[in-house]
Amino acid sequence: MQIRLSGPLERDSIVNGYGLRAVLWTQGCARRCPGCQNPETWDFNGGFLVDVAEIKERLGQIKGQTGITFCGGEPFEQPEACREIADWCRQKLGWNVWSFSGYTYEQLMEIGGAKTEFLKSLDALIDGPFILEQRDLTLKFRGSRNQRLLRLEYGTGKILSQE
Ligand code: SF4
Repeated sequence: MQIRLSGPLERDSIVNGYGLRAVLWTQGCARRCPGCQNPETWDFNGGFLVDVAEIKERLGQIKGQTGITFCGGEPFEQPEACREIADWCRQKLGWNVWSFSGYTYEQLMEIGGAKTEFLKSLDALIDGPFILEQRDLTLKFRGSRNQRLLRLEYGTGKILSQE
């Protein structure tokens, strides 16, 4: 299995979730939010393909992280590959797993299939598209007020709390 990424694997990030985090930048997003900070990640044929096995190997070499965050682009357009990496990080490295998405939590629960399964493999979701009119630079980890930081129950996707 392969995953299409938009940039190199990041480590020690403190701006994409709590703790020290590895960050995987996925490629491809159909949403085209005005004001998006990463328009170069929109093209579904852009970026580069990497074997999931290679990503796991590289993640396994990173020390001192508390979790991994999937950013985009839209991670939920590649839910099978993202979930495989997420589960591996949880089981082998003991990391917690966060993801951003332009979909809302409700949409991801409703859609079913691989997208919903990836959602259920998370500890936290930052959901919803970036809305320029609701931009707020004071928000933690989020760009606009419509977006929510949702803590989820692993395995069920149930919302535990909201920030
Ligand atoms: S969902 Fe995210 S990556 Fe996609 S266009 Fe909107 S802000 Fe950009």
